[in-house]
Parts: sequence; C-alpha cells; structure tokens
Amino acid sequence: MHSGTGTPAVLTQDPVVIVGAGHSGVAVAAGLRARGWKGGILLIDAEQELPYERPPLSKELLKDGASDDSAVLRKQKFYADKGIERLAGVAAESIDRDGRAVLLSDGTRQVYHRLVIATGSRARPLTVPGAGLPGVRSLRTRADALELKRLLVPGTRVAIIGAGYIGLEVAAAAAAKGCEVTVLEFQDRVMSRVTSAPVSRHFEQLHGRHGVRFVFGAAVTSIDGVKRAEGVTVADGTAFPADVVLAGIGVLPNQELAADAGLECRDGILVDGDGRTTDPAIYASGDVTRFTSPIDGASQRLECIQNALAQADSVAAHITGQAAAEPEVPWFWTVQHGVRLQTAGVRHPEDQVIVRGEPAGGKFSVVYLRDGSLAAVDTIANLTDFRTAKRLIAQGARIDPVLAEDPAIPLAEAISGTPNHPDADLAAARS
Ligand code: NAP
Repeated sequence: MHSGTGTPAVLTQDPVVIVGAGHSGVAVAAGLRARGWKGGILLIDAEQELPYERPPLSKELLKDGASDDSAVLRKQKFYADKGIERLAGVAAESIDRDGRAVLLSDGTRQVYHRLVIATGSRARPLTVPGAGLPGVRSLRTRADALELKRLLVPGTRVAIIGAGYIGLEVAAAAAAKGCEVTVLEFQDRVMSRVTSAPVSRHFEQLHGRHGVRFVFGAAVTSIDGVKRAEGVTVADGTAFPADVVLAGIGVLPNQELAADAGLECRDGILVDGDGRTTDPAIYASGDVTRFTSPIDGASQRLECIQNALAQADSVAAHITGQAAAEPEVPWFWTVQHGVRLQTAGVRHPEDQVIVRGEPAGGKFSVVYLRDGSLAAVDTIANLTDFRTAKRLIAQGARIDPVLAEDPAIPLAEAISGTPNHPDADLAAARS
C-alpha cells in the first residue's frame, strides 16, 4: 500500500470530483490542495449548509444553551481561497464509467478526471410496525440533531432503541435535560459491538446513577400510537410508554452509487490501501469503504473520524502521485455523563481481556491481547495508556498478561520478556 505511484500532479482539464462532503470528502479536497493538486476540485454535497463536524451532534449540540451552529469543518473562505468548488443541495445519482462522468440530481452531468466516493453511511432504519409515526427519530445529520434537541424537554419520556454510541450519548444528553430515559437493547449489555463486559458494566452503572433505565435482550416488535409515537412494545409483550423514540441501531454504508456502477462492494465499497476501487479512475474514502487492515490483515469497515481522515490522505496522496502518511492505529472516543472512553485498535470478541486498575475508582484500562500481542485497549481517564497502546499496537508488541494487569507498571514495561516480570529471574536462571 501507499505505493505513491498515482497520477502525477499535473493540470488536467477535468476536475477531481468528490461525492460527499463529510469529514472524509472535505479532507480529500483539502488534502489534494495541500499536496499541490493544481486541477479543479468539485465537491458534491447533498446538504445545503456548509459541511459540519459530526461528533457534537449527539453530545454538545443537544445540550441546553449550546449554540445551534455546530462547528463547520471549514469556513466558506477556505473553499474560496483553495479553489474548491462546492455544489450544495445536489446528489450524485449514477456514474457513467465509460464516459468518466457523474449524473447529478439537478439533471446535469459532470465529467471527472478522478472520482472519489465519500458518501458515508446512513442510520439503519427501524422496520417494525409504527416506525413511521411522528416522534420516531434517528440521528445522523445536523437537522436530525436540532429536531431531537427541540423534542428533549424536561419530563419527556424518551425510549432509545440501541445501546451503541448514539443511543448512550443521547441517553446522557436527555437525562441531563430532565427527560425520563429508557434504553432498549437487543444484546445483554451496552456497547457490545465495540467493547468488553467490564467497560459495558462501568458505563451501564454510570448511566444508572444518572437515572437512565436499561432493558436488555429487548427485541422491539412495534412502535405504538395513533397520531404519533406513544410507546414501544418488545417481544415478550411489555410496553414502554414514550413521547419520543430514538433508533440508534447502527448504520448502513451509502454504497449504492458504486454498486450500481458495477464496482465491487461487500457491506462497503472495496478499496485497497490507496483508496482505489476496482475502477482505477474511482476512489472511495471513509465510512463507506471496506478494506484490509494494514495492522492485522482483517477485512474491516471502520466508522470513525480517524479512518475518514487517514483514507482521505491516502486518496489525495495517490491522486497526486505522492506517498501517504504511515497507517495509523484506528482510535475512537465517546463521552457520556462527562466520562470519556478512549479506544485504540479494534478489539475482537475472542481477544484475551485484561483489566488494569479498579473500575470503581473511575480510572482504568482494559487491554485486549490476540495471540499474545496487543490488539486494542479501552481507557477511562488514562491518556497515558491510550497513547502508549497506540504505539505498541503499531509495533505489534507482545504483552505479558501478568504485568499488564498491574496498573502500577507502565504499559510500555509490560512487554513480554521485560526485566520487571516476576518470572524474569527464573527465566534468566533457566536459560
Ligand atoms: P452501533 O454502535 O452499531 O450500536 C447499535 C446498537 O443497537 C447495537 O448494540 C445493536 O446490536 C443494537 N440494535 C440493533 N438493532 C436493534 C434493535 N432492533 N433493537 C434493539 N437494539 C438494536 O450504532 P449507533 O450507536 O447507531 O451509531 C451509529 C454510527 O454513529 C456508528 O457508525 C457509530 O460509530 C457512529 N457514532 C460514533 C460516535 C463516537 O464514536 N463517539 C458517536 C455517535 C455515533 P447488534 O450489535 O446486535 O446489532
């Protein structure tokens, strides 16, 4: 990967066309200019407003007193200064690969030198009866967040379906605003897709202290109500009254544009390490892609800003014929009731789980080992472990589970075979 053998940075008549103006699309445009691309850049954005940050949508933006203007990714002046043309309120509808053109919802056709698909993902729709009733919401765009904020007033009964990042961040915001919050989750614990049981337990207890109620093993069968949502019923027949229902049940990649054009997709557009699809003139970047991890060789689709930006850099580098930055270990974060969970690496359910520190004390880490090597870490109030883990995961460091369990031993000194190990003298005597 990162071969740096892309097209040289020459002026072409046709622009690089980027479809999608989320974190990744905007970063491709900025990265092309930063890397000296002299040709045209056209950013096609289905939304009217300036491209914006997504993390505040489920956190700060929902708070009382927070400005409705969530942070824009780049000011208007940036696009003008950099000669990045933004086509707002227009969607790309299909690709004519032979003609190297995209067909747009305003009826126009835009030819491209290179096309970058950065269409991101959309909220997975709830499909049970009643899901279309007013009061049933999902959260993906700034408009979604502002509408939800309007509904979250003190005393509102909020049923949240799904205890993932969206569900839990909104649960925290809603509880802080004096809403009565019930979270209904399929699995038997919170954030089960992304973390292990000790971290789930910590956050479940945290939410409990703020009055959030959880129902696990809850398969929602209907949203009830006549003119608007009045409650949620689950498979055992229990009904939960609710004025507002939020579905935070995951996302689906917006891959249709690519799939319809015959590009290979498998729960995400398949790309290589340079962001190239199966058509050499078409790249894809961000949430919408599936690729092989340069760290552990796993096929993955990552839903995080770090990946959106890293892939954007790879794409901009390849288009300009330069080398991309070294691949970074993926990292993620969430904040709930003021407690920050920072994760480095991607945990697998079968990894060995080691808890470092005492969760009750509010500062601890959970280390994930795969065949003895550090694969991922979750940290709560432990920035040192987070930073160290990112470095060690990239190095493929092997970790001694006994040392790793002791929070008094720095993680960097828990590498297998270090002198700190209680068995080191024994091992030395034997050798
Ligand atoms: P998510 O993290 O995938 O969590 C969805 C949860 O809902 C899963 O536990 C899922 O269980 C459960 N679920 C699915 N269908 C259900 C149903 N019918 N009834 C009850 N539970 C159900 O997705 P999300 O929270 O919706 O987040 C959406 C996207 O936004 C993700 O890409 C996420 O990374 C991103 N986001 C990230 C952050 C952050 O990084 N801090 C914050 C907000 C959003 P199964 O696993 O069994 O399907």
